[in-house]
Amino acid sequence: MESVPLDFLGELRRTHTCGELRASDAGKKAILMGWVHRRRDLGGVIFIHLRDRDGVTQLVFHADTDPALHAKVSLLAAEYVIAVEGRVKLRTGETINPAIPTGEVELVAEKLWILNESRTPPFPMEETVDVKEDARLKYRYVDLRRPQMQRNIILRSKIAFAVRETLTNLGFLEIETPFMGRSTPEGARDYLVPSRVNPGTFYALPQSPQIFKQLLMVSGFDKYFQIVRCFRDEDLRADRQPEFTQIDLEMSYPQPERVWETVEGFLAAAFQAGGYEIRTPFPRMDYDEAIRQYGIDKPDLRLPPLTDARDCLATGDFEQLAINRELPVIAIRIPNVGELSRKERDDIKPMFVSKAGARVFEDFKRIENRFTEAAARIRQKAGAGPGDLLVLVAGSAPPGGEPHPAGKRKVTPAELAIYASAGLLRVALAQKYADRHRLFQKGIFRFLWVTNFPMFEYDEQDRRWVAAHHPFTSPHEEDMDKLESDPGMVRALAYDVVLNGTELGSGSIRIHRQDIQRKIFHALGMTEEEAKSRFGFFLEALEYGTPPHGGIALGLDRIAMILAGADSLREVIPFPKTAAAKDLMVDAPTPVTDAQLRELGISVMKH
Ligand code: ASP
Repeated sequence: MESVPLDFLGELRRTHTCGELRASDAGKKAILMGWVHRRRDLGGVIFIHLRDRDGVTQLVFHADTDPALHAKVSLLAAEYVIAVEGRVKLRTGETINPAIPTGEVELVAEKLWILNESRTPPFPMEETVDVKEDARLKYRYVDLRRPQMQRNIILRSKIAFAVRETLTNLGFLEIETPFMGRSTPEGARDYLVPSRVNPGTFYALPQSPQIFKQLLMVSGFDKYFQIVRCFRDEDLRADRQPEFTQIDLEMSYPQPERVWETVEGFLAAAFQAGGYEIRTPFPRMDYDEAIRQYGIDKPDLRLPPLTDARDCLATGDFEQLAINRELPVIAIRIPNVGELSRKERDDIKPMFVSKAGARVFEDFKRIENRFTEAAARIRQKAGAGPGDLLVLVAGSAPPGGEPHPAGKRKVTPAELAIYASAGLLRVALAQKYADRHRLFQKGIFRFLWVTNFPMFEYDEQDRRWVAAHHPFTSPHEEDMDKLESDPGMVRALAYDVVLNGTELGSGSIRIHRQDIQRKIFHALGMTEEEAKSRFGFFLEALEYGTPPHGGIALGLDRIAMILAGADSLREVIPFPKTAAAKDLMVDAPTPVTDAQLRELGISVMKH
């Protein structure tokens, strides 16, 4: 790098940010500091766009009037850090730039300080330029300087502030909980931290503050919240990070509705911070209803629901189509897709994930040719217009067979398989044809509360019941008698808040009685000893006057991602990890020295 004589800041104070000057400032003196964003050399005049987090201001340097200044300007290159003193001047006529807020003025520079030089940045600062993500993550500090990333991080800060402000005004206290703790049972793998002082033992980083926030209710802090980092060692996808941020809250004496109102309040504030008004309260839907209407527990309400077209078929039709009349026949409707080509139709089959023998009929035209009347009835029932895509999903498995332990739920497992297969295909088709139906346009937010989840899910592999949410979730009082006899029928006081088909958060009313908590551990197949060794302290706490309580946690990263219109969480997390859980900037994780390992009493197996 060519060395440039650098100046010191000394007593120099900036008077304005680079996004601040307006026509009304004309004639004023101003001192700006920032990065050289762009430079245009017109011989006698040099224009520099000076940038900081607030915006860009055009600087003008007149070479003819001040050769010394001109000589200094000619040293400047992209991303140099400078300070400039000058006088604000109105731009005229076509030199006005309506694209930026400072576009009516420019700063006629009189003095220039070069505060630091910069190597040529690894990629340009222009937002229009597509840069490979690996490079962006390695040079994250430069990437974060780009206007788009600045906007995302500023938005995230505003969202967090709106949440804090709302909750604080509602009387919630922000209370910290430890990062070095014991495993909490959210169901993912823990990140472990070895203890040097107690060799051979480990802390676990929290998957969530679940137990601590419940203990805070026992301690009498009846409204708690925290914007808090959680750690889960899971396989990563675009919308997952090993460490992520939750808006976590818990309150004493709530009905579920009290929790929902609270969440609606801070989401309205957060969305307002992002420039959107949303309507509250959000609609509510029973889990069973969500499965029946949308085939999924996080329905996307922007799209039409599924239609059960079973009653549109005549008796003989079932046999001819070789489908099961005992099971729903689902019509998926995607609006305004238009006529599909042969290839597009053929592409539907591979998109279909068949559960328990569910079948797809992707060519509705053929159904129309063979079963004209039934097809007309299906069209009508599904409310399909001429340009709408219709696809049918039905069951092929014969009725009967082994009764399943969850067989008495309102939606049977065999029905669930049809609904779920149809639900997934509905979402996949809607994503594929988003350009045609245009229901996924920016700024459309359809929120929903999904309530009354099942308490337990049957783990086919392990052949046992597991907690659908977590083991501290309270069952419905009227289902309590089925805990042992019929776990599949037990509903939980658990709820999810869903936005456009994405789960934003889940929560529940908790168990506050020690006898019921014991029963749940037992129903989950935990022996008395196991329960005691894992959660003994918690069971004991429940014996010391625990108030009824409940809460929820929402993903802040996801909310920020949606409001930023970004398609990856990495766009709204300042220093994220890659899909391989690596930090490319600091280069982590790394091996550590033998001395460090020895101190911890750890030996590493060779891979
Ligand atoms: N701790 C739970 C979770 O992270 C949320 C809750 O039940 O409040 O999923």
